[in-house]
Formats: sequence, structure tokens, C-alpha cells
Amino acid sequence: MNVEEKKVVATMISIYCRSTHHTKNTLCEECDKLLSYAHQRLEKCPFGEEKPTCASCPVHCYKPAMRQKIKEVMRMAGPRMLFLHPIETVKHYYKERKRERDFSKRTKATKK
Ligand SMILES: [Zn+2]
Repeated sequence: MNVEEKKVVATMISIYCRSTHHTKNTLCEECDKLLSYAHQRLEKCPFGEEKPTCASCPVHCYKPAMRQKIKEVMRMAGPRMLFLHPIETVKHYYKERKRERDFSKRTKATKK
């Protein structure tokens, strides 16, 4: 489930770890923990493949400390992702935006 998201989050964390913690080919212990935590959250996400971006998700499933870290990772690695993996990034954001639209349509529909 959420294979693409897993790849994106793994890439972002490795970019972040390499430039912030100066690791080479492996993640430091801290980032490794963050990655398995993020993957675990994706697996348990109640919205599955239909999930909106985590930023707009109504379920804030990250623990505060992990949330803080992943936010930092995204802030730092996000722009670099676009530069290093432009196609994947654009595809990812496009998909997320589309899902977000579908998602808000559906939540509005169920509220009625
Ligand atoms: Zn690290």
C-alpha cells in the first residue's frame, strides 16, 4: 500500500540525512527510525491509496516529535527533490492534488 509515497519519503529522508547529518550511503540511526516510522504510518493510514497529502489529512497520525522531524525533512528536501527527481516529484504532487480534490469532494458529499 502507498508504494509511491514510501519511495518519496525514503528519497526525501536520504536527501535530508546526507546533507544535514553528512552520511554517505546509509541513513543515520535517527533518520532510519524516522523512515521506518513514516512507512509504518503509511501502512496504517486509514485512507490507504485514497489518502490526501499528509498536510491536509484530517487524521494527524504522527507523534508530535516525529511530526516535527518529518516537517523539517520536507521543508529541506522538498525543493531538492524537485531538482534531483523532477519527474517523480511532479507526478507525485499532481497525484496528491488530484486526490485532495477527490477527497474534499467526497467529504463534502458525505456531510450532506
Ligand atoms: Zn540523519
